[in-house]
Amino acid sequence: MTHTLSSCQALDWHDPLRHLRDQFDLPAGVIYLDGNSLGVLPKTTPARIAQVVQQEWGQDLIRSWNSADWFRMPQRIGDKIGQLVGAGPGETVATDSTSINLFKVMSLALTLQAQVPLERRVVLSERSNFPTDLYTAEALCRERGWTLQLVEAENLPSALKTQPGVVMLTHVNYRTGAMHDMATMTTAAHEAGAVMVWDLAHSAGAVPLNLNQANADFAVGCGYKYLNGGPGAPAFVWMNPRHAASLGPNLWQPLAGWWGHQAPFQFTPDYRPAPGIQRFLCGTQPIVSLAALECGVDSVLAAQPLGGMAALRAKSLALTDLFMDLVEQRCRGLGLKWVTPSTHAQRGSQLCLTLAADMPWPPHAAYAMVQALIARGVIGDFRAGNQHSGGLYPDILRFGFTPLYLRFEDVWNAVEHLRVVLTDREWERPEFAQQLAVT
Ligand SMILES: *Cc1c(COP(=O)(O)O)cnc(C)c1O
Repeated sequence: MTHTLSSCQALDWHDPLRHLRDQFDLPAGVIYLDGNSLGVLPKTTPARIAQVVQQEWGQDLIRSWNSADWFRMPQRIGDKIGQLVGAGPGETVATDSTSINLFKVMSLALTLQAQVPLERRVVLSERSNFPTDLYTAEALCRERGWTLQLVEAENLPSALKTQPGVVMLTHVNYRTGAMHDMATMTTAAHEAGAVMVWDLAHSAGAVPLNLNQANADFAVGCGYKYLNGGPGAPAFVWMNPRHAASLGPNLWQPLAGWWGHQAPFQFTPDYRPAPGIQRFLCGTQPIVSLAALECGVDSVLAAQPLGGMAALRAKSLALTDLFMDLVEQRCRGLGLKWVTPSTHAQRGSQLCLTLAADMPWPPHAAYAMVQALIARGVIGDFRAGNQHSGGLYPDILRFGFTPLYLRFEDVWNAVEHLRVVLTDREWERPEFAQQLAVT
């Protein structure tokens, strides 16, 4: 089908989710294709932060732990996130960072599998998983005498045959946009006798999830990506309730602290973990940041009356299908190649391109293209390729599509900018070759 600017505008007109965009303060002249890295600012957030700071802290002071329900914010926001990831009430808490939560659940996963024979003391993951996940797993493996085994996604089924003790995967790959089938993979991991840990950083708020139906063991996810919680927002952690049910007070996470105690205000010298997920809280939580996260999560929950995650997913697929079609139509022969699978079930809400190998690109070309797009107000990002033992990961031009606030018209305009950057060789300008500290 041939798209035009006006056919894209018609899609916006008929989009049942189009008013959700009004929840956000989007800068003029920007097409934001980076909500997978830092979500946008909800209009409610600044006033809520001012209220927490000026009223709850400034006036009500320490009384706010009770009067403003500060103390229960990790659970309250966790339950809201739970609605987006297929978790029941009381199964999720918002706390700490993704990296720290991953440390907690991975440490526990290894402990749960402490009895496996030596040759099964293996954490299986993907080589192209996000680095912090691999570093966390590697550090724990060093400490416990386990081995981290890294394979490409297509080799996971054969690697499972060797029965690793723990499987740790990111549901949507940050580098390729490829998505695992959570239920199938979890079942395969369990059949191999493994504990299954999911990182939902690029999934929560982007694709429908059902942790309970998949019968996963543990999950962590990010607050500042599709959940719009703001830079460095607290992350979340989920544990299958069957673990707490079977182990009860014997189930300790490694960062035991008073917020995860059964009765924190009895100040007893001995640790007794709180029931359920609350034991994953360590110490005093960042209330101002949690307040911002709650505004972000509420902005996603605003889609619930309109069909929730299923409706958001349908729009996300329509947006990404359109981007793929338009790149095929308008950027054909300009040297771009897809990294993300085109099959709906195999991709999340981001699309990644790389440079065709049969053209003579200078080393900084992909970076410069992203910079040239940013100069035109089209914000995506660049992920550097690297050499590894099994071969080469290419440089990536990465575009995230957040259905809460992106319009079909934005997709049309983004591809038009991309076409001009390539055909006019705008990316070759020297100013776009300067590498910044954060890409
Ligand atoms: C974004 C992301 C993180 C971020 O971790 P932080 O602790 O917030 O820095 C971790 N893992 C994955 C897979 C991510 O995509």
